[in-house]
Amino acid sequence: MSLDLPPALVYLVGAGPGDPGLLTLKGRLALERAEVVLKDALVPEAFRAFNPRALWLEVGKRGYGEKTSQEEIHRLMAEHAGRGRVVVRLKGGDPMVFGRGGEEVLFLLEQGIPFVVVPGVSSATGVPSALGLPLTHRGMARGFSVLTGHDPFGLSADTLVFLMPLHQLPALKSVLLAHRPPHTPVALIGRGTWPNQAVALGRLEGLERLRAPDPALLVVGEVVGVLERLWPGTLGTQEAKDVGKD
Ligand code: SAH
Repeated sequence: MSLDLPPALVYLVGAGPGDPGLLTLKGRLALERAEVVLKDALVPEAFRAFNPRALWLEVGKRGYGEKTSQEEIHRLMAEHAGRGRVVVRLKGGDPMVFGRGGEEVLFLLEQGIPFVVVPGVSSATGVPSALGLPLTHRGMARGFSVLTGHDPFGLSADTLVFLMPLHQLPALKSVLLAHRPPHTPVALIGRGTWPNQAVALGRLEGLERLRAPDPALLVVGEVVGVLERLWPGTLGTQEAKDVGKD
């Protein structure tokens, strides 16, 4: 099988949520072509095995702490591509979901640097999916929204997926209680698809007491009830807590 991946100087590649097996075939091919990889801090070290010969530079945000500025990332892409090196910009999840991928493609366009975007499995869908947690479910949830913890809007969808929720749990609880009953089930999933994944299940009324390691996302809605029914089956021996539930 030949994969149709056109030649380019920069590949903007989505790494998926963390499990290296969830990288796409095109993503892997792009990594094999790379001479320089600009890797997001969120992407696990294990990805280096796809191309140990490339120069790997870690850029981007690590948790809520230190980060490389977006301008510096642009500069590094332009510098290496300018020397004729094939660059992979490896981003967590899908590059176009809360990943500033749009800014990066506009920059590359302005600079006249040929680029290709390789989609990835977004954590927003991939992390719940890997657990058997459906975001839509017949008779239960007709649609979902992907939001951030800092900027909750669009709260009308049946299922809500919040990225970057960890520092916002008390604030999210008060916003959500205006729209949903207190017993609405919630799941906080940390390091989804990583070997040390941790899942905390609870109810909206106990939201601020849920704990999970970074990176984490929060799913709110009746569909979390499906995960509760599967649990502990799909969660297996993983660390799982059940907080804020009567
Ligand atoms: N482009 C990425 C999202 C970048 S924002 C994507 O499509 O997935 C970073 C946020 O994504 C994290 O703060 C967290 O909320 C979420 N995230 C990324 N990987 C995750 C994982 N393995 N488990 C849980 N949440 C994750």
